[in-house]
Amino acid sequence: MVLRISAQALAEVQRLARAAHPIEACGLIAAASGQALARRVVPLRNQAASPTWFSFDPREQLQVWRELDQRDEVCRVIYHSHTASEAWPSREDIAHASDGQVHYLIVSTWAEARHAARSFRIIDGRVFEEPLSVQP
Ligand SMILES: [Zn+2]
Repeated sequence: MVLRISAQALAEVQRLARAAHPIEACGLIAAASGQALARRVVPLRNQAASPTWFSFDPREQLQVWRELDQRDEVCRVIYHSHTASEAWPSREDIAHASDGQVHYLIVSTWAEARHAARSFRIIDGRVFEEPLSVQP
Protein backbone atom coordinates (compact mmCIF):
# COMPACT_ATOMS: atom_id res chain seq x y z
CA MET A 1 0.00 0.00 0.00
CA VAL A 2 1.19 3.46 -0.82
CA LEU A 3 -0.30 6.91 -0.40
CA ARG A 4 -0.34 8.78 -3.68
CA ILE A 5 -0.59 12.48 -2.91
CA SER A 6 -0.03 15.61 -4.95
CA ALA A 7 2.95 17.73 -3.93
CA GLN A 8 0.62 20.71 -3.67
CA ALA A 9 -1.74 18.95 -1.25
CA LEU A 10 1.14 17.79 0.96
CA ALA A 11 2.62 21.31 1.03
CA GLU A 12 -0.79 22.73 1.91
CA VAL A 13 -1.26 20.33 4.83
CA GLN A 14 2.18 21.30 6.14
CA ARG A 15 1.36 24.99 5.78
CA LEU A 16 -1.96 24.53 7.64
CA ALA A 17 -0.17 22.58 10.38
CA ARG A 18 2.38 25.36 10.86
CA ALA A 19 -0.41 27.96 10.95
CA ALA A 20 -2.34 26.03 13.63
CA HIS A 21 0.72 25.21 15.77
CA PRO A 22 0.69 24.55 18.77
CA ILE A 23 -2.90 23.38 18.26
CA GLU A 24 -3.32 20.27 16.11
CA ALA A 25 -4.57 20.89 12.58
CA CYS A 26 -6.92 18.35 10.99
CA GLY A 27 -8.95 17.66 7.90
CA LEU A 28 -9.19 15.42 4.92
CA ILE A 29 -7.78 15.11 1.44
CA ALA A 30 -10.19 14.15 -1.29
CA ALA A 31 -9.60 12.19 -4.48
CA ALA A 32 -11.78 11.96 -7.54
CA SER A 33 -14.00 8.89 -7.29
CA GLY A 34 -12.15 5.81 -8.51
CA GLN A 35 -8.74 7.51 -8.46
CA ALA A 36 -5.98 6.97 -5.95
CA LEU A 37 -4.38 10.43 -6.08
CA ALA A 38 -5.25 12.53 -3.01
CA ARG A 39 -5.25 16.11 -4.20
CA ARG A 40 -7.92 18.39 -2.69
CA VAL A 41 -7.27 19.45 0.90
CA VAL A 42 -10.35 20.19 2.97
CA PRO A 43 -9.36 21.62 6.36
CA LEU A 44 -11.75 20.96 9.21
CA ARG A 45 -12.00 22.77 12.49
CA ASN A 46 -10.32 21.02 15.40
CA GLN A 47 -13.23 21.05 17.79
CA ALA A 48 -10.96 19.93 20.63
CA ALA A 49 -8.61 22.91 19.98
CA SER A 50 -5.96 20.83 21.71
CA PRO A 51 -2.17 20.56 21.33
CA THR A 52 -2.42 16.79 21.82
CA TRP A 53 -5.72 15.77 20.29
CA PHE A 54 -8.12 16.57 17.48
CA SER A 55 -11.78 15.95 16.83
CA PHE A 56 -14.04 16.92 13.97
CA ASP A 57 -17.22 18.87 14.50
CA PRO A 58 -19.85 16.24 13.55
CA ARG A 59 -22.05 18.78 11.79
CA GLU A 60 -19.18 20.19 9.75
CA GLN A 61 -18.07 16.66 8.98
CA LEU A 62 -21.52 15.72 7.69
CA GLN A 63 -21.61 18.82 5.50
CA VAL A 64 -18.15 18.13 4.07
CA TRP A 65 -18.95 14.47 3.32
CA ARG A 66 -22.14 15.56 1.56
CA GLU A 67 -20.10 17.96 -0.54
CA LEU A 68 -17.72 15.13 -1.49
CA ASP A 69 -20.68 13.12 -2.78
CA GLN A 70 -21.87 16.08 -4.81
CA ARG A 71 -18.44 16.53 -6.37
CA ASP A 72 -18.07 12.79 -7.04
CA GLU A 73 -15.08 12.64 -4.73
CA VAL A 74 -14.07 10.34 -1.90
CA CYS A 75 -12.20 10.93 1.33
CA ARG A 76 -8.82 9.32 0.64
CA VAL A 77 -6.87 10.75 3.57
CA ILE A 78 -7.58 11.94 7.08
CA TYR A 79 -4.73 14.15 8.18
CA HIS A 80 -3.76 15.80 11.42
CA SER A 81 -0.67 17.30 12.94
CA HIS A 82 1.38 16.48 15.98
CA THR A 83 2.85 19.58 17.52
CA ALA A 84 5.06 18.12 20.26
CA SER A 85 5.71 14.54 19.18
CA GLU A 86 6.78 12.41 16.25
CA ALA A 87 4.46 11.80 13.30
CA TRP A 88 3.31 8.47 14.67
CA PRO A 89 -0.27 7.54 15.70
CA SER A 90 -0.99 8.10 19.38
CA ARG A 91 -2.96 5.61 21.45
CA GLU A 92 -6.03 7.82 20.95
CA ASP A 93 -5.41 8.08 17.19
CA ILE A 94 -5.37 4.28 16.98
CA ALA A 95 -8.46 3.89 19.15
CA HIS A 96 -10.43 6.35 17.03
CA ALA A 97 -9.29 5.20 13.59
CA SER A 98 -12.38 3.48 12.29
CA ASP A 99 -11.82 3.27 8.55
CA GLY A 100 -9.42 0.63 7.26
CA GLN A 101 -9.68 2.07 3.73
CA VAL A 102 -8.44 5.54 4.64
CA HIS A 103 -4.83 6.71 4.76
CA TYR A 104 -4.01 8.42 8.04
CA LEU A 105 -1.48 11.15 7.30
CA ILE A 106 0.32 12.69 10.25
CA VAL A 107 2.59 15.69 9.90
CA SER A 108 4.75 16.91 12.74
CA THR A 109 5.52 20.53 13.51
CA TRP A 110 7.65 19.49 16.49
CA ALA A 111 11.14 20.97 16.08
CA GLU A 112 12.78 17.67 17.05
CA ALA A 113 10.68 15.46 14.80
CA ARG A 114 12.73 13.14 12.61
CA HIS A 115 10.00 12.84 9.97
CA ALA A 116 7.89 15.74 8.72
CA ALA A 117 5.11 13.54 7.31
CA ARG A 118 4.20 9.87 7.52
CA SER A 119 1.24 7.87 6.34
CA PHE A 120 -0.44 4.88 7.95
CA ARG A 121 -3.21 2.38 7.62
CA ILE A 122 -4.82 1.57 10.93
CA ILE A 123 -6.75 -1.68 10.89
CA ASP A 124 -8.28 -3.31 13.97
CA GLY A 125 -5.94 -1.41 16.26
CA ARG A 126 -2.83 -2.30 14.30
CA VAL A 127 -0.65 0.32 12.63
CA PHE A 128 0.92 -0.19 9.22
CA GLU A 129 3.21 2.52 7.92
CA GLU A 130 3.11 3.01 4.18
CA PRO A 131 5.31 4.98 1.81
CA LEU A 132 4.30 8.35 0.39
CA SER A 133 4.41 8.74 -3.34
CA VAL A 134 4.44 12.46 -3.96
CA GLN A 135 3.22 13.34 -7.44
CA PRO A 136 4.17 16.53 -9.25
ZN1 LIG B 1 -2.49 12.24 16.70
